[in-house]
Amino acid sequence: MIKLPHVLVIAERPDAIAELTAGAAGLAEKVTLVYSGAREAAVNAAAAYYAGTLESHSFLSYLPSIAALVRELRPQLVLTEATKNGRAAAAAAAAAAGTSVQTDAVSLSLEDGRVSTQRMVYGGAAFQTQSGLGETAVVCAAAGLFEAGEKQPAAQIFELEPHSAGVRLLERRTKEEKSVNLNAAKIVIGAGRGFGCAENLALARELAAVIGAEVGCSRPVAEEEKWMPKEAYIGVSGVMIKPELYIACGISGQVQHMTGVSQARTIVAVNKDSGAPIFEKCDYGIVGDLNTVLKALIQAFKK
Ligand SMILES: Cc1cc2nc3c(=O)[nH]c(=O)nc-3n(C[C@H](O)[C@H](O)[C@H](O)COP(=O)(O)OP(=O)(O)OC[C@H]3O[C@@H](n4cnc5c(N)ncnc54)[C@H](O)[C@@H]3O)c2cc1C
Repeated sequence: MIKLPHVLVIAERPDAIAELTAGAAGLAEKVTLVYSGAREAAVNAAAAYYAGTLESHSFLSYLPSIAALVRELRPQLVLTEATKNGRAAAAAAAAAAGTSVQTDAVSLSLEDGRVSTQRMVYGGAAFQTQSGLGETAVVCAAAGLFEAGEKQPAAQIFELEPHSAGVRLLERRTKEEKSVNLNAAKIVIGAGRGFGCAENLALARELAAVIGAEVGCSRPVAEEEKWMPKEAYIGVSGVMIKPELYIACGISGQVQHMTGVSQARTIVAVNKDSGAPIFEKCDYGIVGDLNTVLKALIQAFKK
């Protein structure tokens, strides 16, 4: 494969920085990084531009500098993560480069120097191939597009200038709900409507504490029942995750949910209905009432 001369990565979570820069290093001769958060998180880049901790400025105030950097460096590819800020950065980069954004890329290929990507459509039933116009491709990467490899500290770090963006940061408040970091979790327990009520989720949380997992959920658990925050729902319209182990409890296994866990290495399902679709999509299935099964699993893992 002939490598691209230059890829610009824009990321804010340390995991995403490590993954996207590792992926970029496989695609390009030179990697430049724009990042925020911990200063020492800059890895695998010839040059890194630091947007600070975002304590005093919102990420949006760095978009003019990001656009200027795209115009100056003219990279063949801009790679961003699919977070709120990552999507905003992708839009600014695409506008600066006079192209469109290739969104939610689950795969990326390089042919004759042209970047094309695939994204899932129709609830994961089909893939759409995307490619951009012009010299620069702008790709917003879905979780798990690249694996993190060895991390080398960035060779040089420069400060990125914040600008007035029409958005002023007045105050920061901690969210009341426990924040979930499903993208980083190695084990995720998925809670479905089969739990019956919010109080019963204590069982999923107890099992999670015993095995070191995060708890996510299906869309109705967050959107309709409101037993969990919206950021916790997994699936085509929620979070796409790539854990080592996914334990789906009281989840029927509809395609819109399963698309979000299709990259999980092993899927275990607990459902009282032996005919539930999830049993056709899991590696191991336990037919039984989740109240009984989860209590037994908690006892077994505690030993
Ligand atoms: C455009 C669109 C986008 C969507 N996007 C998403 C998405 O991103 N994520 C998502 O999750 N969904 C999404 N959905 C909804 C999706 O189609 C399903 O409706 C949803 O995933 C079902 O959630 P569930 O499995 O928790 O609930 P249900 O379908 O109600 O299933 C509950 C399951 O629990 C089992 N159960 C009940 N009691 C027990 C018990 N005591 N012990 C063990 N098992 C029990 C039942 O047998 C059943 O299989 C989307 C739908 C549409 C139309």
